[in-house]
Amino acid sequence: MNHSDLDTMRKQLDELNHQLLDLLSRRAEIVQKIGHEKQRQGLPRFDPVRESMMLEDLVSRNQGPFDNTTVRYLFKQIFKASLDLLGEEQKKHLLVTRKQKPEDTVVRVKQVEIGGPSPVLFAGPCTIESYEQMRRIANQLQSKGISVLRGGAFKSRTSPYDFQGLGIEGIQILHQVGSEFGMVTVSEVMDVGDLGSIVDSIDIIEIGAKNMQNFSLLKAVGQLNKPVLLKRGPSATLEELLLSAEYIVSCGNDQVILMERGIRTYEKWTQNTLDISSVPILKKESHLPVLVDVSHSTGRKDIVTPCAKAALAAGADGIMVEIHPDPSIAMSDALQQLNFDEFHDFIEQLRVSGLYRPHTKM
Ligand code: PEP
Ligand code: MN
Repeated sequence: MNHSDLDTMRKQLDELNHQLLDLLSRRAEIVQKIGHEKQRQGLPRFDPVRESMMLEDLVSRNQGPFDNTTVRYLFKQIFKASLDLLGEEQKKHLLVTRKQKPEDTVVRVKQVEIGGPSPVLFAGPCTIESYEQMRRIANQLQSKGISVLRGGAFKSRTSPYDFQGLGIEGIQILHQVGSEFGMVTVSEVMDVGDLGSIVDSIDIIEIGAKNMQNFSLLKAVGQLNKPVLLKRGPSATLEELLLSAEYIVSCGNDQVILMERGIRTYEKWTQNTLDISSVPILKKESHLPVLVDVSHSTGRKDIVTPCAKAALAAGADGIMVEIHPDPSIAMSDALQQLNFDEFHDFIEQLRVSGLYRPHTKM
């Protein structure tokens, strides 16, 4: 074989490479069209039966020199690259992203706007313990012009032996006190089965951190016409949080509020690590309102004020803080709940900072 033969074969190889690239690109375009059609018809993107049939068809035509295993491997890579292409495309078009909707989503509940020009404060006890306790708290909030009352009735406790909350009775107390004081109420739901009986009694449904990836629950609240407060899981990435929000929004409910509540790290001096960078990142990536829970992210009341200031300075649409008339006897999270005097100082310091006044959101 002389030099010119080698050159000729190399040219043929280049030509075949170009043809292969051309064929792969044309194949990818058809895959994209099929993907769009499947999405329109609500069909799953990946069809393993169809993929296996295509592979067997190719193997049956294989005349060598590649063996069947290699043919399967090569085409599997081509199939996977096409699927990845669809995945990337879908990610670019997530409903919760700013690319999809550039303007801020404002969640309106009664007189409250979450995600609007002024930051909002959600406050209340970790656990609803009694009607009297909730009345005292509502009274305290009202005197400070705060109209969102939180309280847990179904508690997601780490130990099954810890107090699990008053359940439906707690929801009824919250509903009654909320109605008496004209307040917006927030409470966690853990079970799809409980949704029906409580949906009309609370204004904002909280999905707790430990349930951020309870996909059945996300789909169920996605069917409701009711705001949902979605908390970031203790080990969830921001992308996972947004994908969980996407579950809700893609089911038709766009009234979703995101909440940073700290993530699990090696640090022991706080209960969780408040990821303050999540605030500007979520605000940049998504149009949904972003709130920060300064109580569960820190687990200690002595630093909730600077953490709330940091959250507001970072662009948060609001803060959640736990308060209790007498934290020392609280049924849960006793160490992080503020008493009324501490709550007064908390609000005053936020006001003085200039970060918590109407129309001051940065
Ligand atoms: C809560 O907000 O009541 C709560 C239990 O917090 P988390 O889900 O963030 O642990
Ligand atoms: Mn709590």
